[in-house]
Amino acid sequence: MRRQNGDLSVTEEDGASSGLGCRFLLYPQAPYLSGYDKPEPVWISTPPDRLQPGPANRRMYVRDPLLEKEPYEFPYLPPFVGATHPPAEAGPDGHFDQLQPGSRQFIAAHAFASAQRVLDIFESFLGREISWYFADTYERLEIIPWVEWRNAQSGFGFLELGVDRDGNGEASPFALNFDVIAHEVGHAILFSLYGVAESGFGDGDFGAFHEANADLISLISFMHFDSGLDRLLRHCQGNLLVLNELNRIAELTGDRQIRLASNARRLSEVTGEIHDRSRPFTGAVFDTIVDGFHWRLAERGLADEALVEIDIREVDAAQMRSISQFTAEAFRARPYLFKTALIEARDEVALALAQTWPRLDPNALSFMGAADILCDRGAAQSAALAQRFETNFRWREIL
Ligand SMILES: [Zn+2]
Repeated sequence: MRRQNGDLSVTEEDGASSGLGCRFLLYPQAPYLSGYDKPEPVWISTPPDRLQPGPANRRMYVRDPLLEKEPYEFPYLPPFVGATHPPAEAGPDGHFDQLQPGSRQFIAAHAFASAQRVLDIFESFLGREISWYFADTYERLEIIPWVEWRNAQSGFGFLELGVDRDGNGEASPFALNFDVIAHEVGHAILFSLYGVAESGFGDGDFGAFHEANADLISLISFMHFDSGLDRLLRHCQGNLLVLNELNRIAELTGDRQIRLASNARRLSEVTGEIHDRSRPFTGAVFDTIVDGFHWRLAERGLADEALVEIDIREVDAAQMRSISQFTAEAFRARPYLFKTALIEARDEVALALAQTWPRLDPNALSFMGAADILCDRGAAQSAALAQRFETNFRWREIL
């Protein structure tokens, strides 16, 4: 095809007005973790002309209190109306990636973009917009990026992020911790998709199921960082089995999501405490991602068939050595094909999860019932995926 003019206008290339969205800098993991000290460019779906200083868009806004603020607690609720720090503003190109890391405005923009990114990812799996469960009262989610409080909470109309301080008083704001934000936005997404139980959060499986799925939302969101997948695959040389056997990738990368997800707990081995009780379900879903990844590797001649046959939670050292050598060589030769396989395994599971949540009844929610729906949604994609879910839920004593 003949081109009249080879020049691309700068504006179009930047995506500033082309609907590509807007650029921010995000840390895939908390920046104090080794290997994660540099933020990476990430696009969120809102175009620059629909973003306001704050940042703010149609779905959420940041308010950064100038003076110390108490955490929200009923009846103290949004909106925050006190004095605030100057809002984060876009650069001349309309993007927010020019803010100075460490500045108050960078922290505000980081919290905002992390939350919007998680929303973008799961709206993509759902194929529609998620309307906030508090939409009748509040149009938008309020994000408070800095509260002097060693916690973070997602509540009715707000996301509030505290600060962790070490022995010297050095602050690590949770607003820079993608995992914490993704987990909290995860709670808001789940409430929005299947509502609140009349009997409350602590009753039956409701709370534990919420925690498991908020952790899975965080894990799957982390797995959307290109560098996150690269790091994961390089650390284990393409063989995710080592996660379960040694559980050391998480130690190396400081990655809480992987550490929690690659657990080997069965339902009969956990207490009633909601975080503990959440682990078998989180583990079963994570194992289904790992199985789907290994299955694809074997099918494509990138790994020993044995990788698919063995029980990934009960591997001995000799077995591990014999299969990991083959995988490591294939990984060195074809790293991008490994990444493709992992992305596919991630997406089939995330899609099944996203289709399961809106089908849940909050007042009759059980791990078993949810696992049944998840297997069914898996079957809608492939018999093999349904089989993987079922095997893992049975091993965890959920089915
Ligand atoms: Zn939680």
